[in-house]
Amino acid sequence: MIMDQRIALDPATFAAATTHLDGPAVLEDHEGGLDPWTAAVWLAARDDNARITLPAAPAAVSPEMADKALDTLTALAGTRVRVPGAPSRFDDLPDGVLKLEPGDPGYRGRSSTYMRGGRPALILRPRTPGEVADALAFARRHPELALGLRSGGHGISGRSTNTGGLIIDVGGLNSIEVLANGHVRVGPGATWKQVAAALDKYDLALGSGDYGGVGVGGLATAGGIGFLSREQGLTIDRLRAVELVLADGTPVRASDDENQELFWAVRGAGANFGVATAFEFEAEAVTEVGWAQLALVTQDLEESMRQFGEVARDAPRDTTVFWLTGQPRQGQSVIQMYGMVDSGDPDTIVERLTPFATTGLLAQQQVVVARYADVMAQAADVGAEGHHGRGEPISRSGFLPRLTDEFARDAAELLRSGTTFFFQLRHMGGAIADTPSDATAFAHRTPEFSVAAIGMDRQALDEAWDRLMVRHFDGLYLSFETDRRPERLHDAFPPATLERLRELKRRYDPGRLFRDNFPIDPQGEDR
Ligand SMILES: Cc1cc2nc3c(=O)[nH]c(=O)nc-3n(C[C@H](O)[C@H](O)[C@H](O)COP(=O)(O)OP(=O)(O)OC[C@H]3O[C@@H](n4cnc5c(N)ncnc54)[C@H](O)[C@@H]3O)c2cc1C
Repeated sequence: MIMDQRIALDPATFAAATTHLDGPAVLEDHEGGLDPWTAAVWLAARDDNARITLPAAPAAVSPEMADKALDTLTALAGTRVRVPGAPSRFDDLPDGVLKLEPGDPGYRGRSSTYMRGGRPALILRPRTPGEVADALAFARRHPELALGLRSGGHGISGRSTNTGGLIIDVGGLNSIEVLANGHVRVGPGATWKQVAAALDKYDLALGSGDYGGVGVGGLATAGGIGFLSREQGLTIDRLRAVELVLADGTPVRASDDENQELFWAVRGAGANFGVATAFEFEAEAVTEVGWAQLALVTQDLEESMRQFGEVARDAPRDTTVFWLTGQPRQGQSVIQMYGMVDSGDPDTIVERLTPFATTGLLAQQQVVVARYADVMAQAADVGAEGHHGRGEPISRSGFLPRLTDEFARDAAELLRSGTTFFFQLRHMGGAIADTPSDATAFAHRTPEFSVAAIGMDRQALDEAWDRLMVRHFDGLYLSFETDRRPERLHDAFPPATLERLRELKRRYDPGRLFRDNFPIDPQGEDR
């Protein structure tokens, strides 16, 4: 069947907008025709031979829509589309460093993150430590621009996007090289599912978190509480060396043998001290694991939570179960548990999980024997369109030394109030406590659980969480905290740790260049 392809458009505009290898497209001119951008999208999708030159940036109801139109077009047409190069707002851009500004193709895909919407004035995308140093020199020349660091774009506390500021995006530094003796060298832009896949070929695994889409750079500079932490320790406990570019542009390597103080600081407060450009970890032998997703129903939320606390406390190190629920509906709560048993033996897996499955009425279960890498691979790939975070997440965190009856009562009350739709208990303990609390800047080594809640109403969640903080929590995990009040820095770092971090901040970043994630004031004015 031959179809008469027509687009309704002002022919003069269209002629300026497009050239066609096979001769002119058939046009019809009438009122209310398509704008050249829509026509270009149509043409790009219809004809692989079309070469399209656009006359101007898209007319759109908002800058975000204009970015979206541009990204759709470049996704469809790739190099076949030529877009007018808008002059840069900056006349001192670092030579050779890839940059994205509003209106550039690909900008939209890097302007938002997984959790957050943003519209930075400039995104610099260095591909080598030297280019990172050049990007940092630009940042130093522009103190008026808020600076965010971005690796995998899954920051919650870390403001890896912003509006009107500068982002140094090291997502392109994403190589993974498996070395001898279970060591692996990883770029900050790799994701944990990519790391898991690379190690899987050698029957190795490195604990990270519960979601394989998270980036290496943010997690490995903060902690890393995941499914293997009770056995392997935190991700930072497996770190053997890190390479950073400091605020003044100096590249350094830090390990137990060199720049030891910096190595201490990076393991928990890394975002304050430099841009990490490579990590070396020591992985451990892991092959098949038991992977469980359970859904339980309970009418007695408090009791189920309390029982979960007891079962989790008694679990061996090879077993880690996270607990998640939201507001009860009609007096009933649905509890999701997802967890891992580091064993491929079905009998062991069932034995380990059965006590958890009896803390409510088991409504659904899926338990499989899988490779660790397959569990991590469940995270979706980020496509060419990038992340779509919108607005600002409202997340609070607390470390719970012990899940007491009083905590279960107060937490159940919080859940019933509807202040949080996502309330999670992350099983800690085990090997996390094998590292002394002064051995890394991450100092909270002995809690039973890391607790996190996400809500819609900042004030309501803050008020409720502040009460829990006073009554039950001892510290917080900075990666799940979005509250910017100065007290939070003191929750994240106990006094001796914070004092030591301040001293190091005075030495390595006295000008506070790095300030997007629990910024430490070198002078201690955040006291
Ligand atoms: C869906 C989801 C699941 C998660 N699950 C877990 C989990 O199971 N366990 C856990 O511990 N955490 C978890 N997190 C938290 C996560 O570890 C942090 O948000 C982490 O910062 C994300 O790293 P990223 O590189 O993807 O983030 P980005 O958004 O790229 O960066 C976040 C921040 O990290 C810092 N940073 C990034 N790159 C560098 C670098 N190269 N050098 C120095 N600092 C840098 C910056 O302050 C930046 O603002 C989860 C987050 C999400 C969104």
